[in-house]
Amino acid sequence: MTAQLIDGNALARQIRADVSGRTAALQARGIQPTLAIVLVGDDPASQVYVKHKVNDSSETGLVANLERHPAGMSEAALLARIHALNDDPAVHGILVQLPLPKHMDSHKVIEAISPAKDVDGFHVASAGALMVGQPGFWPCTPHGCLKMLDSIGYELRGKHAVVIGRSNIVGKPMAMMLLGRSATVTICHSATADLGAITRQADVIVAAVGKQNLVTADMVKPGAVVLDVGMNRNAEGKLCGDVDFDAVKEVASWITPVPGGVGPMTRAMLLVNTLEAAERAAG
Ligand code: NAP
Repeated sequence: MTAQLIDGNALARQIRADVSGRTAALQARGIQPTLAIVLVGDDPASQVYVKHKVNDSSETGLVANLERHPAGMSEAALLARIHALNDDPAVHGILVQLPLPKHMDSHKVIEAISPAKDVDGFHVASAGALMVGQPGFWPCTPHGCLKMLDSIGYELRGKHAVVIGRSNIVGKPMAMMLLGRSATVTICHSATADLGAITRQADVIVAAVGKQNLVTADMVKPGAVVLDVGMNRNAEGKLCGDVDFDAVKEVASWITPVPGGVGPMTRAMLLVNTLEAAERAAG
């Protein structure tokens, strides 16, 4: 079997087109959906990420205000800035780019964001809403993965989904979303004994670890759907995922590539969350 590709670039384009249309509808009502991006310090990867977020926003008619603060900014000053953004009715979404400088408590900073503007979905209130099935903002990466499964018409009900990785921003919310669709979910992590014995039972595998070639062909049941969240650099410095793509695509029925898979979907879902924040505020 040679798997079909789930093309994250193409799907993200469709989602951006939908965001553009809904943004125009809000603008016609005099509402400009606006995202505040807060960057503290000069981490090189963060600089690239925020640039993408600003460009993606402006392409779809959203306004992204990027504010840069020096690495030496105090935590109190950052918290005060977030409170001001919470109180600003012209700002619908707030994103604090992580990682923050070491002298800051990231958890405390994220918790300062109003849940109504938490478009990254990292606030405890957002995680709780996902857990109990109430409206809130879902983290962009797992939400993008779910959209990819929807795009191929995949029925999760009764299927066995194995999520490898249990971070608060990818693995755990992914598992909750799959459970919400009535899949049977297994979460694996670094202490999981015999990962392959578990993944071989999976109808869907989501790999979110950060280790090149962690998922090999012998770990995949023929016909399984494989979503690769991992972002690694191979020996040649090229971007690659956690899945041995060339071998696994001969076993799986559907597979996401890296690059061009989950990455563009993560970016697209931030736009969706920002737009939804503006739509909810508009009533
Ligand atoms: P993380 O916080 O480092 O979590 C990694 C998880 O992998 C942990 O739960 C860890 O287990 C588990 N793990 C480590 N080694 C393992 C092994 N040998 N077998 C099974 N599980 C193992 O990372 P993250 O933030 O979730 O990100 C995961 C990957 O996704 C990274 O490559 C990251 O760059 C990428 N990512 C991509 C996107 C995107 O848009 N494409 C977005 C976010 C993240 P323990 O909990 O036991 O330590």
